[in-house]
Amino acid sequence: MRAVTVRPGRRGSVEVRELPDPEPADGEMLVQGLALGMCGTDREIADAQYGDPPAGRDWMVLGHESLGRVRSAPPGSGFTEGDLVVGVVRRPDPIPCPACAHGEFDMCRNGRYTERGIKGIDGYGAQAWCVEPGYAVRLDPGLERVGVLMEPTTVVAKAWEQADRVGARAWYEPRRVLVTGAGPIGLLAALIGVQRGLEVHVLDRVADGPKPELVRHLGANYHTGDSARVVSALRPDVVIEATGAGQVVFDAMSGTAAYGIVVLTGVSPRGRTLTVDAGTINREIVLENDAVVGSVNANLRHYELAADVLAKADTSWLERMITRRVPVADALRAFSPEPDDIKAVIALDPSAE
Ligand SMILES: [Zn+2]
Repeated sequence: MRAVTVRPGRRGSVEVRELPDPEPADGEMLVQGLALGMCGTDREIADAQYGDPPAGRDWMVLGHESLGRVRSAPPGSGFTEGDLVVGVVRRPDPIPCPACAHGEFDMCRNGRYTERGIKGIDGYGAQAWCVEPGYAVRLDPGLERVGVLMEPTTVVAKAWEQADRVGARAWYEPRRVLVTGAGPIGLLAALIGVQRGLEVHVLDRVADGPKPELVRHLGANYHTGDSARVVSALRPDVVIEATGAGQVVFDAMSGTAAYGIVVLTGVSPRGRTLTVDAGTINREIVLENDAVVGSVNANLRHYELAADVLAKADTSWLERMITRRVPVADALRAFSPEPDDIKAVIALDPSAE
């Protein structure tokens, strides 16, 4: 089988290699890889900024945004041959910490969790992979073309759940949401907002390309330009922040409606400084009972939520988010973003070669 591999810590080490098919361990399923989504984390690993190989070797199979079809499943696993499945990215730390012991490995306290294709375990960027049935989620069979969007949807399902849980500390009935950033995370956050019947606004830097039309097609409003102006004009009840851009983050924090909630999902580069009026931001947060919360990764509950989001969504809209499909033989091309990329996908199915 072909697999996309990397030597973490070594720039330019991504390659497509021929590897033996994996042997499922006791209780595991064998899955035929169909597609692998490419995200900023994969590009950071390829750029040697991030990533840890499994113990005892210097390389790993890359990829965490999976989609596959079950080839064999142990009896009693709840899966059968032919099921469309996605593998969960994170595994609890071996100790485990109290959060991991409660199934909330996305909230791991000691940082010793592992992640497929990112930290300590092989990823899903292969034409065959194994997975424990407890860390796989079945998708609606109609999602074969778009199910690779599942993992970013889990991240967004968690972000929305965080907003709900923070909101539940007092009376909470949000009406208007602003999503900053119209990449995959932002668009999927907007989709969930629309599915909830909210008034959804999306802010991004670009004025053309596929993003504005995708947002409008959802029935949401698209904005470009100065984030402070957009946020203060809208005064949103909830902001799902997906740019990681420092200025946008601070503009969101200081421009929400009273009892506003900002969920930060974008990871910023370090070392970029900007001048903010910390006093004004503090006053706004205190005097309006605002909350700012960070959110990353997802646990099994969020995978179930995300499977429902995708099943309810317009498949052709989701398909338009996948702006490039690169055959596995050319997988390296997927690591170089192109101007109108939203989501680039590596097609693993041999029939796509
Ligand atoms: Zn833990």
